[in-house]
Order: sequence, then structure tokens, then C-alpha cells
Amino acid sequence: MDRGAFLERAREGAELIRMHIELGHTIRIVSHRDADGITAGAILARAVAREGGTFQLSIVKQVSEELIKDLAAEKHRIYVFSDLGSGSMGLIEKYLEGATVVVADHHPPERDGFSTESHVLVNPVPFGANSVRDLSGSGVSYFVAREMNEKNRDLAYIALVGAVGDMQEIDGTFHGMNTDIIDDGKNLSILEVRKELRLFGRESRPLRQMLAYSTNPEIPEVTGDERKAIEWLRAKGFDPDMRYWQLREEEKRKLHDALVIHLIKHGAPKEAIDRLIGDVVVSPLYPEGDPRHEAREFATLLNATGRLNAGTLGVAICLGDEDAYRRAWKMLDDYKREQIEARKFIIQNWSMADEGEHAYVFYAGRSIRDTLVGIAANIAINAGLVDPEKPVVVLADSDEDESLVKGSARTTERALEKGYHLGDALREVAEKLGGEGGGHAIAAGIRFPRDRIEEFIKLFNEALGRQLREGKFSEG
Ligand code: C5P
Ligand code: C5P
Ligand code: C5P
Ligand code: C5P
Ligand code: ZN
Repeated sequence: MDRGAFLERAREGAELIRMHIELGHTIRIVSHRDADGITAGAILARAVAREGGTFQLSIVKQVSEELIKDLAAEKHRIYVFSDLGSGSMGLIEKYLEGATVVVADHHPPERDGFSTESHVLVNPVPFGANSVRDLSGSGVSYFVAREMNEKNRDLAYIALVGAVGDMQEIDGTFHGMNTDIIDDGKNLSILEVRKELRLFGRESRPLRQMLAYSTNPEIPEVTGDERKAIEWLRAKGFDPDMRYWQLREEEKRKLHDALVIHLIKHGAPKEAIDRLIGDVVVSPLYPEGDPRHEAREFATLLNATGRLNAGTLGVAICLGDEDAYRRAWKMLDDYKREQIEARKFIIQNWSMADEGEHAYVFYAGRSIRDTLVGIAANIAINAGLVDPEKPVVVLADSDEDESLVKGSARTTERALEKGYHLGDALREVAEKLGGEGGGHAIAAGIRFPRDRIEEFIKLFNEALGRQLREGKFSEG
């Protein structure tokens, strides 16, 4: 990707924010309700505060026309959107015409840029980046913050927590401009990247939980079953109550070898084995054993706050609030337990899924919380319930509005090679169904009326089929 041109955009965004701080305007920050969005919002808030500015921050589940209208009614002079906004450029132009707007995001944008000078799109995708590998929303915010003040390099670890929350290193290594953030952090000695077990729980969970909670990748016969995890660990000579961080380096290597052999014996796909051990980010800013010491555990803590509607608590944690951290800690167990329950539900009921020509659609009703459908869709893939070349959508009744369903679509790199783009497909289908949808090629979301699920299934399969045909035409 063209890093220089992207950084030039980040500088334009930074200049606008600085100018409004100097004018004494409150910087209105709106960010997305997952770990990536929470860290993105925290980075921007910290950068504004560092310049002596004031900010007002909201963490939201999605952008809608109502949200933009409400924001416009607040009559701020400047709005900064992070980890969202790129799919709502038209709405932003319509309702926030008179204000300054900076969109710091990594979702594939509607267009390569805004047409007015007071609106700036800082997004790496038009400069050649892959939206799910090369930079996250927190990373974009980090570069805007870094252009505001060199001192903001000390936010590099928080930026990587967001990247890990979005699974940017899902294949086991960081790519693109994420590696520039790593370099900044290493130079300041605020982070370290190790080759370790890439599973949730390095700091605060006993090994038995670290393995039993592993859904990405799955560990055959161990994931979802703590008793089996204990047996497996004992058989291999490990104390199931030990934390991973407490292991000596040679013990870690022994555990890695045992896990790899176990995966191979159980016929796990090569991609699953490749990503089990890889880049793990740790930071000396926090003590060993503290979930904030390692990026995946930190990100999971933030996701837990977001999904329970407490995203600003997550922002406070990123800004160093110890009390917020202690409160969030109590939310984590429920969050992980719900994931394991969602996994069980999906596996036991998968036969109910509709298998179309191009996609699987599973409607979970109220059995899976609407904020966990993305995880559930990935579980269907990682647990081997589906043909990995066919996208998966999991739908659940919306928490907020019972006439709507929320859906998450997920797939694999192999499916993308065939020509699918889930974000484009869901955007198109949502327009036809009177809903809203969009996202990345590999991971996207939608909300639409619950009484239109049958139509959704038909339209989504058709849209994906058309993508393959059109892809073939453009190649030939
Ligand atoms: O909203 P946003 O861009 O921040 O979220 C990206 C989503 O894509 C996350 O839910 C992440 O888990 C998902 N993802 C995925 N597979 C990948 C990369 C990202 O499911 N290979
Ligand atoms: O890394 P740190 O030294 O803090 O780890 C805690 C201690 O526990 C170390 O002395 C480590 O060698 C020890 N340990 C052990 N046996 C294990 C795991 C850790 O003796 N299985
Ligand atoms: O990994 P799994 O549970 O399938 O292991 C079955 C057998 O493989 C056990 O007898 C175990 O001792 C052996 N094994 C081994 N060396 C390892 C991992 C497993 O000999 N590193
Ligand atoms: O909601 P879910 O986690 O399934 O979203 C997957 C990805 O699609 C996220 O990056 C999310 O921000 C994006 N998305 C979007 N527009 C929507 C819904 C989801 O860009 N309307
Ligand atoms: Zn993101």
C-alpha cells in the first residue's frame, strides 16, 4: 500500500482536529462498540486531551440515519468517527454538511474520499490496504494521533490491542502498517512481540481454560470441554492450573509441540495449525498476570464491556482507570461462558441451517445474543460444520428491536479467492430488504426485518452468485 499518501491524509485529519482544539471547540468523537472501536476512541480522546482540548465521546453499535441526525442536532463544529463511518459517507455529507468531519476508519469506503474540503476520509483501503489485515480502526486513529503529536507514539500498544481484537493477525503474523505500529512500540520499549500460543488466557486463565476456550482455532476434543482439557494437560505432563505466562520457555515449547502433534493427529486443516503459534503482543506497561499485559486478553476484556453496553467503561480502561478495569473484570466470565454456550448451541443445532448454493444461513432466534452472532459464525467455520468455501451467516433476534434480526456473515480466505465480497453482498441485500448492511470482504453484518428471513436467504445467495459470475467476466 502507499503509506506516504495514507499518512498525508492522516495529517490532514490531524490538522483539522488541532485547529478546532485551538478554537476551543469540543471534539465530538463517535466510535464503534468493539475492542477495535473502543481503543480507537480512547486513542483519539487521549490525543485531544494531550493538546489541552475537550472531547465528548460515544461508543455505538452501528451508524444509522437516526444516529447521524441526532449528532447533527447536537450542533458541534467537528465530528470524528473512528472504526466506522466509511459506509455512511452519503449520510454524513447530507446531515453534517456545515461541520468539519474526520472519518478515521478501515472499512471499505463508499467512495475514495469526500467531495468537500471540510470532510476528510482517513482510510487505508483506497491506498491499497487489505481492510482486515493491514490496519484496524485503532491503527488509523493511532496514525492521526501521531500526526497530531509525536508523543502519541506511546499509544502504540493500545492501537495493537484494537488490531488483535479485530483479528488482524489471524494467520499468525501482523501485516501492513500494523508492523509500523509495532516498530514504534518497540522503539519506546512499551511492547514486545513474541512467538507464542495465540489463544485467549495467557495472563489470567489457567491452562485448562486457555485450551477449553480455544475456538480460533479449535482444539479437537478439547475446545468447549474443560474436563477434557484437564485430562489432556495432565497426560502431557502439565499442571492444568498453571498460567501460560508462568511456564518456562522450554515448557512453552513442549506445550506447543504437544498441541501441534494433537492437531495433526486429528486432521486439523493446515491453516489452523499455522495460526496456533504466532505473534503475541505483550506490554511491560502492565504486570505479568494482568489481563492488560497481553493484547488478546486486553481486547477480550474490552469486547466484554462493549457487548454489555458499557463501551465507555472500556475507553476508561484504555485511559488507565483502575476502577473501570476492576469493574470490567467482573463482566469477563459471563462473556466467555456465553461464547462457549453459543458454540454448543450452534454445534447441536447446525442441522437447522439452510444450505444454499452459495451460503449457509442459521437463524438462532433468541438462543444466541445478537452481539455474539459473529463469533458463532466463525465457530461454525472453525468447528468444521461447513464447507470452508461457502460463506456463513448467523442471525439472531435484535436485542433492541424485536421486529428486526441482526446477522453476521463470516468466511475464509479460500472463499474470497473465488470472488465473494460479503460486505458488498450484505449492503446490496439490506437495501432491498429495508435494512442496513455492509463491512469487509471476509466479515460483514446486517440488520433487517425478521419477517423477511426467507427473502434474505434467496437474495443473499443470488448476490453471491452474481459476484462469482461478474468476477469471472472481469478476469476474462
Ligand atoms: O467492525 P470491525 O472492522 O472492527 O470488525 C472486524 C470483524 O471482522 C471482527 O468481528 C473480526 O472478528 C472479524 N474478522 C473475521 N475474520 C478475519 C478478520 C476479521 O471474522 N479474518
Ligand atoms: O516467569 P516467572 O519467573 O515469573 O515465573 C514464575 C516462576 O514459576 C518461575 O520461577 C518459573 O520458572 C516457575 N515455574 C515452574 N514450573 C512451571 C512453571 C513455572 O517452576 N511449570
Ligand atoms: O495429542 P494426543 O492426545 O492425540 O496424543 C496421543 C498420544 O501422542 C499420546 O500417547 C501422547 O503421549 C503422544 N504425544 C507425544 N508427544 C507429544 C504429544 C503427544 O508422544 N508431543
Ligand atoms: O456486526 P458484525 O460484527 O458482523 O460486523 C462485521 C463487520 O462488518 C464489522 O467490521 C462491522 O463494522 C461491519 N459492518 C458494517 N456495516 C454494517 C454492519 C456491519 O460495516 N451495517
Ligand atoms: Zn475495526
